[in-house]
Amino acid sequence: MNNKRVLLHICCGPCAIYPVQALRAQGYDVTGLYFNPNIHPLQEYLKRRQGVEATAKRLDLTVIYKDKDYDPAAYLRNVVFREKNRCFHCYAMRLEKTLSVAKRGGFDCFSTTLLYSKFQNHQTIADLGRDIAGQGETPFLYQDFREGWQQGIDLSREWNIYRQQYCGCIYSEMERYHRELEKVMAKR
Ligand code: SF4
Repeated sequence: MNNKRVLLHICCGPCAIYPVQALRAQGYDVTGLYFNPNIHPLQEYLKRRQGVEATAKRLDLTVIYKDKDYDPAAYLRNVVFREKNRCFHCYAMRLEKTLSVAKRGGFDCFSTTLLYSKFQNHQTIADLGRDIAGQGETPFLYQDFREGWQQGIDLSREWNIYRQQYCGCIYSEMERYHRELEKVMAKR
């Protein structure tokens, strides 16, 4: 045990499995934070939340759920008219909140399961985390959790944890299913 307390931002259950295991193997005392106002719609937010609860139970992990701060309008205000760069603002919103909770809770550092995903812009997340932390007393803990990609997938399937079909926001949902609309239009 290195006795360091890390607050880990969690985007969903499957993405949390490997980072929690990896950090614990290094001796960190891990607490999760579920804060994702980007997720649309509310039903999807709830499904992912349930996935986080089920994962936390399996891992015996304490998670702080910021449900009162689930405000998709705030997320949309952050990205409107800059949709092409929306992921940057989406990452920043979630990392800033994580740092703020980490500071209030006296954590030694903070990190995010977004660093596990092969579908996110890994370098942007790493740079943002370090920039947001700056020279403050609560540093960003960078690790390339993508090395455990398959391990996380295998365990999430074995544990029957909810696996989402799109990244989270209304834009990503549209991109994911746009082909369905194209098929309908092609039949006309
Ligand atoms: S695609 Fe994903 S990371 Fe990018 S803005 Fe949407 S929810 Fe956030």
